[in-house]
Amino acid sequence: MGVQTLVSAHKKFKETHAKEYAEHFKKLAEEGQSPKTLFISCSDSRVVPSLITHTKPGELFIDRNIGNIVPPFREDTECSAVSASIEYAVNTLEVENIIVCGHTDCGACQALYKDMPASRDTVHIGRWLNFARNARDQALAMVGKQNKKTLYTATERFNIIEQLKNLMSYPTVKANVLEGKLFIQGWYYHIENGDLEYFDPIEHRFKLLEEFTENQK
Ligand SMILES: [Zn+2]
Repeated sequence: MGVQTLVSAHKKFKETHAKEYAEHFKKLAEEGQSPKTLFISCSDSRVVPSLITHTKPGELFIDRNIGNIVPPFREDTECSAVSASIEYAVNTLEVENIIVCGHTDCGACQALYKDMPASRDTVHIGRWLNFARNARDQALAMVGKQNKKTLYTATERFNIIEQLKNLMSYPTVKANVLEGKLFIQGWYYHIENGDLEYFDPIEHRFKLLEEFTENQK
C-alpha cells in the first residue's frame, strides 16, 4: 500500500465516517475524552481494537506494542511507553477496566523460539521480548516442542496471563483492583474468525467472551 492509497482512503473517510460521526467528533473535541477502558494489545495490523470491540472514538484508550507486553513496574530510570499509558489511564483518566489482548499467530510469541542475532537492527526487539520469556518457559514445560502450533498457542495464552501479573505490579493498579474500582482482564483474539476469549482466573482457562457476564467479576 503506497502512501497515495492512504490519501485516497482518508478522502473516503471524510466523505463517509467523518460526516456520519460529525456530532460525535464535535462533542469529543468540546468535552475531551473520558474513556472507561485502557486496551493493551499487540501492534499486529490484524488486531484492530476499535473494530473487534465495536467501539467509537473516545471509548478506548489504547496502547499497542509488540507482543501486548506490560513491563513490570520499576521506579528506576528506565522508561516505557506502556508504563506511562497505564499511569495516565489509571490515575488521570480513572479508567474502570484494563484489557490485555493477545492473539493467534503472534509473531512476537513465535520470535521467542528463534535465535535472534546480536545486531543493532534487533537490539530493542530482543530486549523487549525478554518480558515474555516466562510465557515461553511455561508453554515449553506444559506442551513441549512436538507441535509448533500447539506450542505457539500455549505461549500466546501464557503471555497474556504473565502480562496481567505484571500489570498488578503497578501500585495504583493493584490498589484500585483491590478496592473494586478497577477490573482487569486478559483476552485472546482469533484472527481467523474474530472470536474473543477471556481468561478465567478461577478455572485458569480461556473461555468464549460472549459467555462472560458482569457478575463474574
Ligand atoms: Zn502479536
